[in-house]
Amino acid sequence: MKLNRRLFLGATAATLAAPYVNAAGHGRPKVVVIGGGAGGATAARYIAKDSKGEIDVTLVEPSRSYYTCFFSNLYIGGFRDLSSIAHSYGTLASQYGINVVHDWAVGIDRDAKSVTLAGGAVLPYDRLILSPGIDFVDGSVPGWDTSAQNAMPHAYKAGSQTELLKAQIEAMPQGGVFAMVAPPNPYRCPPGPYERVSMVAHKLKNENPTAKILIVDPKEKFSKQALFEEGWQKHYGGMIERIGPDFGGNNVSVDAGAMTVTIDGSVEKVDVCNVIPAMKAGRICDMAGITEGNWAPVSGHTMQSRLDENIHVLGDATNQGDMPKSGFSANSQAKVAAMAVRGALTGSKVFPAKFSNTCWSLIDTNDGIKVGASYQATDEKIAKVDGFVSQTGEDADLRKATYEESVGWYAGITSDMFG
Ligand SMILES: Cc1cc2nc3c(=O)[nH]c(=O)nc-3n(C[C@H](O)[C@H](O)[C@H](O)COP(=O)(O)OP(=O)(O)OC[C@H]3O[C@@H](n4cnc5c(N)ncnc54)[C@H](O)[C@@H]3O)c2cc1C
Repeated sequence: MKLNRRLFLGATAATLAAPYVNAAGHGRPKVVVIGGGAGGATAARYIAKDSKGEIDVTLVEPSRSYYTCFFSNLYIGGFRDLSSIAHSYGTLASQYGINVVHDWAVGIDRDAKSVTLAGGAVLPYDRLILSPGIDFVDGSVPGWDTSAQNAMPHAYKAGSQTELLKAQIEAMPQGGVFAMVAPPNPYRCPPGPYERVSMVAHKLKNENPTAKILIVDPKEKFSKQALFEEGWQKHYGGMIERIGPDFGGNNVSVDAGAMTVTIDGSVEKVDVCNVIPAMKAGRICDMAGITEGNWAPVSGHTMQSRLDENIHVLGDATNQGDMPKSGFSANSQAKVAAMAVRGALTGSKVFPAKFSNTCWSLIDTNDGIKVGASYQATDEKIAKVDGFVSQTGEDADLRKATYEESVGWYAGITSDMFG
């Protein structure tokens, strides 16, 4: 069944699970997954596991080790070592029979239904899943581009950038200044910059107690703001200053050579500068022609692109509705997409899409907070059903339990992704 755009927009999970005819006419149906992160690794694993070999799954991912952004702030704070947030793809290949290809996808031919890799290989697909995460919007912080990322790291893709940022914090002079240029909405991990500030403050409190932290922020408000601000006051009183848009936080440029941040015309000399630029869908989504503006619109019923029913998009790259861009969200969306893909390719049963998310943050030792919600798919979007958030003034036992819950979640999601 070839769906036109009008039909597709109104389609339900059940109609999309109509009997499958293999495009190639023979062999097992083929699924190619681009991006081996929270969304892509989960989707590849669930399709391979639940189809019991009926679907041929290829996962394309350039890195041999995936460093989770989740808990990368805890590495900066000294609560984790780097190896504890690194994961490999061996089990996906050996136990789930996934064909793991370490390469970049550089082109998608939607008519031919094939993906071209940087190494020259061409992979045909019946369904394509894209979960490439984010790229940065050029020029969003004047003076910064990726050629400046060694002097002013973003550390918003984990790995060497995170290591570099931590090393720079350790090399700060006593009484020096750590600056963060925070991103505008929407961006990956809404509480992420503020958890990072907490972890930097935790480190500086022990190693460099007269240092200062300056956040330059284009947003009026941010995730879990009252909880973070209460925690900063309690644990790090006087160390952290935030400049919001009323005082020039949305009029910022940087000079990586001079190590300066200019806020509304006023030049500040800093020792470390963590620039987190505005974000957009990983650029392979643009190459595939499935973006509108900065993001890829999807139907929440199946995570199918609204511009191509043979492509499902997951995680940070999507414009889906109410879910925040988080690893938990990407993992939850991946299971909905995996079920829809199996339904479409093998006729297996497809249930109504349900999603959930929780974002935990650590403010200081054993002081964990969280925000979360459940969601359902409507024809318009993924819509929030109900939510919860930690409260200010909670006692120490509850905060410790919240942190411990996050440690359990990390173990669970990474084994759900990588087997
Ligand atoms: C500091 C920080 C803290 C965070 N903390 C949390 C947290 O506590 N909880 C939480 O739930 N989330 C957290 N997140 C957010 C979470 O990391 C992301 O939302 C999640 O990783 C998104 O999953 P994804 O699959 O969309 O992208 P990713 O996990 O980034 O995966 C994308 C993958 O695609 C690959 N790729 C990109 N382009 C191509 C291409 N052309 N060809 C092949 N491969 C490609 C990349 O190499 C990458 O491995 C945090 C993020 C940051 C930055």
